[in-house]
Amino acid sequence: MKRIAVVDNEKLKDKEKNLYIQSLCPVNRSGVECITVAKDGRLSIDENTCIGCGICPKAAPYAIKIVNLPEILDKTPIHRYGKNKFALYSLPTPIFGKVVGVLGVNGIGKSSAIGILGGLLKPNFGDLSKKADYKEIIDFFKGTETQKFFEKMQQGSIKVSYKPQHVDLIPKKTKGKVIDLLKKVDDGDRLNEVVKELDIETILENQIDEISGGELQRVAIAATVLKKANLYIFDEPTSFLDIKQRINVSKFIRNLCDENTSVMVVEHDLIIFDYMTDMAHIMYGSEDVYGSVSGLKPTKNAINVYLEGYLKEENIRFRDKKVKFETRKSFSEKKGEELISWSGISKKLGKFFLSAEEGSINKGEVIGVLGENGIGKTTFVKILADVIKKDKGKLSTNVQVGYKPQYLESGDELVMVVLDDAIKKYTNQIIDPLNIKPLFEKKLSELSGGELQKVAIALCLGKDADLFLLDEPSAYLDIEQRLIISKVIRDFMELQDKSALIVDHDLLFLSYLSDKLMVFDGVPAKNGIVKGPFEMEDGMNMFLKKLNITLRRDKESLMPRVNKLDSRLDREQKEKGKYYYA
Ligand code: SF4
Repeated sequence: MKRIAVVDNEKLKDKEKNLYIQSLCPVNRSGVECITVAKDGRLSIDENTCIGCGICPKAAPYAIKIVNLPEILDKTPIHRYGKNKFALYSLPTPIFGKVVGVLGVNGIGKSSAIGILGGLLKPNFGDLSKKADYKEIIDFFKGTETQKFFEKMQQGSIKVSYKPQHVDLIPKKTKGKVIDLLKKVDDGDRLNEVVKELDIETILENQIDEISGGELQRVAIAATVLKKANLYIFDEPTSFLDIKQRINVSKFIRNLCDENTSVMVVEHDLIIFDYMTDMAHIMYGSEDVYGSVSGLKPTKNAINVYLEGYLKEENIRFRDKKVKFETRKSFSEKKGEELISWSGISKKLGKFFLSAEEGSINKGEVIGVLGENGIGKTTFVKILADVIKKDKGKLSTNVQVGYKPQYLESGDELVMVVLDDAIKKYTNQIIDPLNIKPLFEKKLSELSGGELQKVAIALCLGKDADLFLLDEPSAYLDIEQRLIISKVIRDFMELQDKSALIVDHDLLFLSYLSDKLMVFDGVPAKNGIVKGPFEMEDGMNMFLKKLNITLRRDKESLMPRVNKLDSRLDREQKEKGKYYYA
């Protein structure tokens, strides 16, 4: 059986320890070279002689990974980052006239695959000494759609425009006004139209480093489409956007496709993924070890296969359990003791006015919070947390509040120091399921966005509190991590009889997690009106009616899916006033 060994020598600095690990290897002990420790202490593993006994990964669990490859991948990789480094085995296929989505967890090569398609990364086919030319790439993919794609690349008839994942890095590299950035990349005369469609007219004169995450995302999308191209690639185009903006951006991206133009999207919001793409690949593999790509499927099938966790054609199980979206009746029928209540709250902050009608939260409840950006969700959360004082109204403040902010601060402290309380109290309930142990010795400033998010959630839940306020806990997380986090939060609240208020823009995440919903109405940056909590169905109906979209439940997976505007189901549900099926 073929296997992949990945070694992180940054975490194996102690030569003595590496020699000790080497001495444990049964292959080395039998006199055959398998683990080598170089003069400078660097450890490497020969994948051909390794028998996969599992001893060395146990001795250095955070630095060595040995993974058996499925039979189907007993072949040359498309790209290998180095000896004992990540290997990529396949690529997604762009199709003209279609939006092709890529579904998969972080760390299994989505960005690498996109980099190769976009011509940013030259594959080496596992031979570290070379960078392949187009002829080799075309030969490698003979007889597939990918072959045709690279033939067109070679002829120069494919022009790629790419929106990177981390839009928050743009202000670090680019300075100046939004309009100047867009004019610089504009290849045609679509600037006014694009700016209008993406609703960024009012920020054109603003400096790039002064606009919000959601605005930055839409500016990055505008800059991508202003370049003339026939393959547009969007890596996570909806992070930082509220639901209204997510739907708007999805429509915008869909409309880019025509018979001469192809679009490829990586997205972790499953409802939006379903709405935005026609067909999809599933990327599977082992995090930071290897990644491969399933065959292309219609999006509905791809999502159901993804939730099932099993690829039939490839005979690969990539998750132990299937994901099922049960209706949440048992939760909404909970009759807990009241924890906190409010009535007639108001707060003026500059030109913004926030008011909250009557509402209450019971013990053990998880309340989802929906609303556009800039409508006062964070302000209300801060009023409940007593971080901001209200102007008027009543609030029962005899509860302790734990708060996770939307924007996460990182410093030089070690994760294990910051999470000391959570580790002592909730290793089984929080630290282990969130897989935080491998991060213990890292500084906060060294964590990726997703890692920092998990640490911030653990930090918040580890506090002595009765009510937890989590602002956008799904940001930076992949689908798998979102499912894990929703389960951790739900189980934690139930077991500890605590309550949570979850502000988020991922509808699936919220519907999977919440017992009830609060809806924020009003006009962004002017006034916000806090309504609820309501039963899930009532809250969703109220919110979706305003957005003019309807959701049905998929018969197989029970996942909520957006109906096409003016489709038969869309019209029927609107006539009945059922914008959401619980
Ligand atoms: Fe040696 Fe491979 Fe076993 Fe590690 S997993 S100890 S390299 S045989």
